[in-house]
Amino acid sequence: SQSGSDFDVAVVGAGPGGYVAAIRAAQLGLKVACVEKERTNGGTCLNVGCIPSKCLLHASHVYSQAHRNAWKRIGVTIPQVSLDFKAMMQHKNKTIAGLSAGIEQMFAKNKVERVRGRAVLRADGSIDVLSAADGSTPKRQQIRAKNVILANGSESAALPFAPYDEKRVVSSTGALALESVPEKMVIVGAGVIGLELGSVYQRLGSQVTFVEYLPRIAPGMDLAISKQMRSLVEKEGSKFHLSSKVTAIDRSSSGVQVSVSPVDAAAGAPFKLEADVVMVSVGRRPNTASSGLKEAGLALDRAGRVVVDDHYRTSMPGVYAIGDLIYGPMLAHKASEEAVAVAEGIAEGCPPHKINYAAIPSVLYTSPEVAWVGPAVDDLDPKSVNVGSFPLRANGRSRASDSAEGVCKVVSDKKTGRVVSVHIMAPEAGEMIGEAVTAVQFGLTAHQLGSVIHPHPTVIEVIKEAALACNGEAVHS
Ligand code: FAD
Repeated sequence: SQSGSDFDVAVVGAGPGGYVAAIRAAQLGLKVACVEKERTNGGTCLNVGCIPSKCLLHASHVYSQAHRNAWKRIGVTIPQVSLDFKAMMQHKNKTIAGLSAGIEQMFAKNKVERVRGRAVLRADGSIDVLSAADGSTPKRQQIRAKNVILANGSESAALPFAPYDEKRVVSSTGALALESVPEKMVIVGAGVIGLELGSVYQRLGSQVTFVEYLPRIAPGMDLAISKQMRSLVEKEGSKFHLSSKVTAIDRSSSGVQVSVSPVDAAAGAPFKLEADVVMVSVGRRPNTASSGLKEAGLALDRAGRVVVDDHYRTSMPGVYAIGDLIYGPMLAHKASEEAVAVAEGIAEGCPPHKINYAAIPSVLYTSPEVAWVGPAVDDLDPKSVNVGSFPLRANGRSRASDSAEGVCKVVSDKKTGRVVSVHIMAPEAGEMIGEAVTAVQFGLTAHQLGSVIHPHPTVIEVIKEAALACNGEAVHS
């Protein structure tokens, strides 16, 4: 803790971790500064993550539905469809600008002082503010605060032999800002980010090939659902090379050449893929470099994440860390929830409470979407759980909307009856999962979840049916 402090709280980073921490702390009467090196607020999530990807996912979905005449079966035909990729990108850019300005307004309303510059943590807990990427001089060069919340976030990890040029070899950031739709695209890594951006370009006409090290796609997702997802993506025209690793990426006159080998050398011969653009989405690493964290003496773990205790306290007194910088899933809502916990803990003068990691939802925003909360069925002991399953094709609303591809699975503990996890594949699974998260968060049993009255006809009725099916109580099974 600092004597002669300028602020009660200094927050580093204005992503969904940092900006939420800053606003919540200010709402509780604390004097707060938020240091961000970029011109815009919102961090990875708003500028190069969640929001721009969803703009392109939505626009590309609408385009591909129209282009494929997907509504012919329900009596709607569209004679001519064209793609304005520039306008699609403009919609994305405008959405980001609007939401970022909204954060600026919330900062002003709550009297959070936004300091533009690169924060470097010092061993005494103070923060030096160096000029931002564009060389502008920060309005404060040093900040002394009673408490520091580090929310520096993460960045795309690169393959050691293939640095990003963001034109031909791109991270997700480059993929969100391409100038034209590539004819051939190779995606290294079939996790959530790879699958989302791969489906954007596949829908816009690219020939997309995924190379994935693991024998499956989307680790963390229920295995059976991930297999169903894979065959749906294949049906759309994308290719998968699973259990395969990329060993080199070389520029060729016509584009990029990607060398691929099976992980198990006995499983086949190495081969090459030609592409116009290669997107590497093999994971993200915490932003600890050039922020002085290590030099200040902060403990980092093997993966380079800042080590915190159960109350988000780092090894330095008065210094907390949240979001992508620490353990746990790299998700915006996880960062924001930790942010609120830390801000409230500081304001109340007690150690921040640990958020409920068993109740953090994940969503893959493909078409259909996949959303889940809790462990995958295949990661649980089949002897200790009941699994209730209900297909969308048995759901009236899904049939009426001609989108009956998908399933809902509710998993409950055999002893207590409580809901352990829920897995949904449905057009708007991400919107539906909230109810399941409520059940997990508040320890509802499958029977209780199944007794909730749902409006009919709705897709979300599948949660009720699957919950009832856990105990053999489903009516429509
Ligand atoms: P960040 O959002 O990374 O923010 C950190 C901020 O700190 C940045 O603005 C950075 O400029 C700033 N900073 C870093 N170091 C310094 C320094 N020394 N001084 C000053 N400022 C500094 N999550 C979801 O929940 N849903 C999604 O749909 C989703 N989609 C995604 C899609 C893509 C393509 C990507 C890349 C990510 C996606 N994520 C999604 C993940 C999500 O973006 C992150 O989990 C989230 O942004 C983490 O928030 P954060 O505040 O911890 O860090």
